[in-house]
Amino acid sequence: MLELRSIAAHYEGIHALHDVSFSIGQGEIISLIGANGAGKTTTLMTISGMVAASRGRILFEGEEITGRRPEDIVRLGISQVPEGRRIFPQLTIQENLDLGAWLRRDRKEIEKDRRYVFDLFPILRERRQQSGGTLSGGEQQMLAISRALMARPRLLLLDEPSLGLAPMMIRHIFAIIAMINREHATTILLVEQNANMALHVAHRGYVMENGRITHHGSGRELLDDEAVRAAYLGI
Ligand code: ATP
Repeated sequence: MLELRSIAAHYEGIHALHDVSFSIGQGEIISLIGANGAGKTTTLMTISGMVAASRGRILFEGEEITGRRPEDIVRLGISQVPEGRRIFPQLTIQENLDLGAWLRRDRKEIEKDRRYVFDLFPILRERRQQSGGTLSGGEQQMLAISRALMARPRLLLLDEPSLGLAPMMIRHIFAIIAMINREHATTILLVEQNANMALHVAHRGYVMENGRITHHGSGRELLDDEAVRAAYLGI
């Protein structure tokens, strides 16, 4: 479904990605793990068109998307949930969700998707007139995921959904991520520092170090890999 071929990316002199290649199949959950600054967020940003790749190609369902504008990439079916959630704190939950659907005109289907995200996260239904900024961190993460789902993506990019959340909330969010994948056939690329949770939920994973992919395998293989365990699982 998605293929990165030898992607490089730079920020004013900083070489953030070197020769990054990987692929994601339809219906998979792929976790991209690595330390702070490894290049995980930059990888997501090159896919969503927020950062320009300086080399290489990105293909989505066989079509080249390298260099396309972010809104064109959303239109093709790729939505990103940014790190730190970035919901609109002054707007209500309902308004935040409506913004997720801003490129769509199919009103009935939008209404169906609103019911779907409210069923995933009933607390958002209860609070739909409340402003986003008054929600807890976990609820804001639910809202950020829901807003991305309102674009009805076929590929969902999640950047550190566990960041700053309590263990129970992290387990809840990961259970929902697995459910979205299972019940809605949404393909998911998950960037995480919480390698343990990320590899448990993933079909396959990639490890990133200093802007390069250094390991890949099934979630189970990476969880059992000595080097991965020592570096990322603290075992
Ligand atoms: P984290 O988990 O801390 O978000 P990451 O693996 O997502 O880390 P990136 O955020 O992709 O890593 O950063 C990769 C490299 O690019 C780092 O050296 C970082 O300092 C640099 N970088 C990221 N964003 C910018 C930017 N806007 N301007 C300049 N350098 C940047």
